[in-house]
Amino acid sequence: MLEFNQQSMPFASASIGKSFRNEISPRAGLLRVREFLMAEIEHYVDPEGGKKHPRFDEVKDVELALLDRNVQMSGKSDLTQTKIGDAVATKTVDNETLGYFLARIKQFLIKIGVDEKKLRFRQHMGNEMAHYASDCWDAELLTSYGWIECVGCADRSAFDLSVHAKKTGAPLIVRETRKEPLKIEEYQAELDKKKCGPKFKKDAKAIEAAVEALTQDVREKLAISLKDEGKITLDVDGMANGKVELDKDLIKIEKKTRVENTREYIPNVIEPSFGIGRILYSLIEQNFWHREGDEARGIISFPPAVAPTKVLLVPLSNHPDLQPPVKRVTYKLRSMGISNRVDDSGASIGKRYSRNDELGTPFGVTVDFDSIKTDPPTYTLRERDSTKQVRAKEDEICDAIKNLVDGKETWDDVFKRLPEFTGQSED
Ligand code: AMP
Repeated sequence: MLEFNQQSMPFASASIGKSFRNEISPRAGLLRVREFLMAEIEHYVDPEGGKKHPRFDEVKDVELALLDRNVQMSGKSDLTQTKIGDAVATKTVDNETLGYFLARIKQFLIKIGVDEKKLRFRQHMGNEMAHYASDCWDAELLTSYGWIECVGCADRSAFDLSVHAKKTGAPLIVRETRKEPLKIEEYQAELDKKKCGPKFKKDAKAIEAAVEALTQDVREKLAISLKDEGKITLDVDGMANGKVELDKDLIKIEKKTRVENTREYIPNVIEPSFGIGRILYSLIEQNFWHREGDEARGIISFPPAVAPTKVLLVPLSNHPDLQPPVKRVTYKLRSMGISNRVDDSGASIGKRYSRNDELGTPFGVTVDFDSIKTDPPTYTLRERDSTKQVRAKEDEICDAIKNLVDGKETWDDVFKRLPEFTGQSED
């Protein structure tokens, strides 16, 4: 038996792997495919007490652009900027745990470079939602294909665990000790099995099952009949005439108090699922632009955290004197965990930067003849989007890059702190 205990709740798992959909008409590049990469969290909660989340307070003021089901039903698509705390308080979003994940999904998407104006959360309509789900929202990103569902976030209630338990016979439940034992007043029905067995023979089991299945309301009525008339008549599936008469020698139905020391429940699951291909596609589209007046100079403004290469190292020329510092900076950056590339082709500095702007590389370090005139050497550091540059000593440049990549400083911070360099033209 697989069983959770109360210490393990809430319980969550996260996984990434291939997902498959039997799409009738795969189309639109990465957007509708039969096989794709999906990252998914399964966060299990106790359904009692409104599915609260202990860290909801941290995100309650995060504002989301919501398109709820009522707005959609009225044929509109107006977005409402709503704090997630308010959306949960008004029940627009069903519960805190679902709301917590919606806010975190937004924070994640913004962090990787999604344009806030091109992100909305759309609630599933009653007819779109799986029958067992209590609420479901999609994070949608605006692209040239329109709004694309990139992350789904559903409260799937107890569906998956109940179905799995039913099919496998393994109860997937949480069993917890109650702080206060629960006293339950109920009608208990007791068959005298020693007498029923010989009397009803092969039908005894069916009669037993029928008694077990009696609801409290029915038991109450039967208890009165048994007292007044000394016998009851029960409907029994599978018996020849579908009925059986039981007298008070064979069955007792009495009101009794039962004490429950443990509570058992099937956890509910909140499931955020991220379609990686769709997110990446939208991210590239939303971050792609051209330098003003020059269609040929494309740029992908990936934030440093997600850019595949963080730094381009550009020696001004192939002169052998410039090679040792390039090697040293490469090594230093690599040992700091910062991916970098050297472009020592003969192309102009401007061309080399341009090629890497198009690949989304956020920073460039130029090693020129002034670099090697001083000890420690100095280099220029260029930022992709603004093309602004600063000049500083080797360690200062490496530390600034590390801070920028880790998100500890923005380019504005670095630009204010280190002296601007305007000397060398990109062209
Ligand atoms: P679902 O569980 O169907 O809501 O899918 C979860 C996420 O996977 C969606 O939000 C999409 O980002 C992605 N996804 C679903 N179907 C496809 C598909 N056919 N091709 C690519 N991505 C998909």
